[in-house]
Amino acid sequence: MDFSEFCSRLIESTDIVKLISRYVTLKRAGSSYKACCPFHNERTPSFSVDPNKQLYHCFGCGKGGNAITFLRDIENIDTIDAIKMLADEAHMELPAFTGGSKHGIDKNKRLRLYSLMREAARRYNVNLSLPKAQIARDYIEKRHLPQNIVTRFGLGYSLDYTDIITYLKKKGYTEAEMKEAGLIERSASGWYDVFHGRLIFPIISNTGEVVAFGGRALSKDVPAKYRNSTQTEIFDKSKTVYALNLLKKKRRTGPLPYVIMCEGYMDVIALHKAGFDTAVASMGTSLTYQQAKQLKNYSDKVIISYDGDSAGQKATMRGLDILRESGLTVKVAKMPEGKDPDEVINEQGRDAYMKILEDALPLTQYKLDMLRKGYDLSDRDDKTKYAAEAVRCIKQLENPVEREEYLRTVADETGYDIGILRAQAKVYTGDEKEAPKTENKEEPPARDINETYLLAAYVAGRPYVEPDDMVELFPDGFERNLVDSVTDSRLKGIKDTAAMLYTDLPEGVQNRLPEIIEFDISSMDDKNVYDSCVKKLKIIRLEKKCNELAASYDKTKDVKFLQQSNEYRKQIKALRENGGNK
Ligand SMILES: [Zn+2]
Repeated sequence: MDFSEFCSRLIESTDIVKLISRYVTLKRAGSSYKACCPFHNERTPSFSVDPNKQLYHCFGCGKGGNAITFLRDIENIDTIDAIKMLADEAHMELPAFTGGSKHGIDKNKRLRLYSLMREAARRYNVNLSLPKAQIARDYIEKRHLPQNIVTRFGLGYSLDYTDIITYLKKKGYTEAEMKEAGLIERSASGWYDVFHGRLIFPIISNTGEVVAFGGRALSKDVPAKYRNSTQTEIFDKSKTVYALNLLKKKRRTGPLPYVIMCEGYMDVIALHKAGFDTAVASMGTSLTYQQAKQLKNYSDKVIISYDGDSAGQKATMRGLDILRESGLTVKVAKMPEGKDPDEVINEQGRDAYMKILEDALPLTQYKLDMLRKGYDLSDRDDKTKYAAEAVRCIKQLENPVEREEYLRTVADETGYDIGILRAQAKVYTGDEKEAPKTENKEEPPARDINETYLLAAYVAGRPYVEPDDMVELFPDGFERNLVDSVTDSRLKGIKDTAAMLYTDLPEGVQNRLPEIIEFDISSMDDKNVYDSCVKKLKIIRLEKKCNELAASYDKTKDVKFLQQSNEYRKQIKALRENGGNK
């Protein structure tokens, strides 16, 4: 069957309202449904779902499409994975796609790697019951893992160097494919299983596919205790969270109050065994924006449960900041020195661990505690250094109320005047906050610099800014709320922009206004720059509308979309020709 033919049949068989309801609360509005958009921050719903056409569209951010694109974007997965997930749910069998396009071939390859990995996981699991696997069974027994847990996590054992190769070859896979899946490598004496002799932890993507393995050494003479699959076509560790697939099942029974983030596979397994079944683990790296985004689909709160002091290590701290920057509430559980969750539960019981979770500290509080340990506050120099470091850390908080609260704590601790600390917090603006962000390529695209400049110029009360332009360019979302709030404040006679921060602002504005106030407009502060920015943005907005209309036309063949699009094209042309004069 042709690829696009299959997709349209799949879309027909999928209930888009049901699908989207798993992520946002839809409210009936006439013949369609409305919700606050899951793809951008908003307070009034501009996201709409049309059950007849099986389409969704956000009038705020412009995102729109069908069940496949929705699943792809919300889960941050490949198109083919979204298709596969929907096909599984609709009990439709995925055909081998024909058409011979480069795309068609890639899709087939990906699906083939999935089935190869599934076969491998099955084989490793079956191995566990063979006489040769005594060492693996001993380990499982030593860790008190019952059969249902072994099954839930699909644990397995790699017998030797070649068993998996022989097995997979019989199933019709080639060594080249096994290599591509990250299962085998070649040495002078031939191909070998990279996980030989290890206990196997299948790593399952949030679409339910086995995408990689983690292997734990069982004998002491092996140099690396853990070995993970390398990056492959189907496995990107920066996008993967271990046990996220189980979270998905769990959420069907109701909302998850929090997710527990721990360090390794065995921590996750031990916690699930003890009934803490929202435990997941990152893949050994510092947490990434992509992982944070996926977690957010399940819960707004993450409790970090790393061993002893490892949460406090610098590399890890950055990961925790990434979670916070992604809008998650982050708390850090204070684990007893050198203990992992399994040890705590075994030695002190389940309730002791529950108590540790309940007592988890807010991230900033935790950071300040860690910081304080390194200084002697009765020493003058130390006290100054501590205050400077603490302010630097408090500065990163987006909520000014929270910032003020922590500054007050530091003022109490050190005896410094709160005004001085506030001033210091202002000095650190910008560079301190920007530095780590630019290193990280996964940072979501920042707001267009032109947009930020326009907002900053309006907030700063520059005389050349036309309020009408603001209203036209920022029709909704945070930007619109900001524009309205500033206009309101001006009407109330508040001229000082910093003073605005302390007035009663909508939540999103309260949090993000500082970022606009702190934007340095000096290099752009000019009417000509302003005019050209406005023109550029107006053109971009119109082009986006045209593209959406073109897509609508493609789907419906309704000429009204074409007529509207032509109207916009004319406006674009006019803007380009007359330099944007109204
Ligand atoms: Zn939106």
